[in-house]
Amino acid sequence: MVKLEDFFNVEACDRCGDCFVKCPVIHLSQNEAQREIGRLIDGEESKVVLEHCSTCFACNNICTKGANPYGLILFRWFERYQSKGVPERGVMALPLAPDNFYQVLMQKAPPDEQRALREWNDLSRPELSSAPQMLLAGCNLKMMPYFTFSSLFDDLPVFAAPDLCCGEVYFRMGILDKAESQAHYLEERYRALSPKKVVFFCLAGYNMIQNLWPGYFGVSFDFDKVYLLDHLWQKIERGDIKISHNAKESVTVQDPCHARTLGQHYMDLPRRLLEEMGYSLVEMEHNREMALCCGYGNGAARYSPVDIIAWSIRRLREARQTGAKMLVTYCTVCLLYLSVARKLYPMAPPVYHVLDLLQTAIGEQPAMRHSERANKMIKYMTLGLPRMLSPKRSWVEL
Ligand code: SF4
Ligand code: SF4
Repeated sequence: MVKLEDFFNVEACDRCGDCFVKCPVIHLSQNEAQREIGRLIDGEESKVVLEHCSTCFACNNICTKGANPYGLILFRWFERYQSKGVPERGVMALPLAPDNFYQVLMQKAPPDEQRALREWNDLSRPELSSAPQMLLAGCNLKMMPYFTFSSLFDDLPVFAAPDLCCGEVYFRMGILDKAESQAHYLEERYRALSPKKVVFFCLAGYNMIQNLWPGYFGVSFDFDKVYLLDHLWQKIERGDIKISHNAKESVTVQDPCHARTLGQHYMDLPRRLLEEMGYSLVEMEHNREMALCCGYGNGAARYSPVDIIAWSIRRLREARQTGAKMLVTYCTVCLLYLSVARKLYPMAPPVYHVLDLLQTAIGEQPAMRHSERANKMIKYMTLGLPRMLSPKRSWVEL
């Protein structure tokens, strides 16, 4: 049963309004911010935050009282969802719904990636039980399987299953009853799978399993959890990965939202990797825990693809202002949406995943199918226009 007090600490909040004054997206005056937090706490109608929040998590870091204002926003979205449901254009982003964008990108992937996906779904492969660790392919890797076509993944047999969705998108969109049921489902599913150690390609999946589901819903996952970049960094330190190419270019970094909530280590890690490869770093105006979203999260408030594209372009503009030669992220959702936006704003620096640069640094040729995947996403959005404009609303099955 989802309760407000599990998401927001009303006792800790003194209604100072700082969260919405310092929010990198909303920028309310102190008086308006105090009124807005009051309206949200009292359950009164709020147009500003519930219509414009980008789900960036920054306000949880801004709040020094530990009240968790982002949780309050999610809970009010949950109430909105309970009374009105989710429109078709929102359903298109739900990983367990039919014909969602992750699924369509997987179905349209080239044959070598289809083969990889089929292999990952075979959970009876002996290497999964014999290897000391295995790599989970959640939606964010399954829509770009080509990242694993590298020696960087030689010690990481990959596993996947359609029902192993981490549930992050349901959480982010405030569909909290489904988030809760998925957290409990995953607890049982992983208990049956009984892995020893799981390496997470994606920080969102890592954060859900390591922190958010246990914290919000009291579930537990009894295996070691490691984030991929930590795993790779350890291999670099041991000398198992040798960086030979010394890059000279300047780069700027797009931090995904879960890195901000996980803490400094997770934002330092890709920067350390980039510096190890020789790149020089130049930060965007909004960076690290106050970074702007890649745009994807901007769609959560109004389920709006227009909001997504507009904010992705804004993010690209900020990257361009740094003068950096490349925009580097470590999240495939950031990569996808920024690559889509760059089709509309080609003056922006090219967008890469940090793994592209690491592969180059060890002498490999990365597959780099991001532009092709962005084209497929644009086609999906274009063909999906009738669904995007549909007035139909529905509720997610638990
Ligand atoms: S959530 Fe925190 S920052 Fe926001 S009004 Fe309450 S105490 Fe202030
Ligand atoms: S999650 Fe981000 S955009 Fe939303 S209110 Fe908090 S700081 Fe602002």
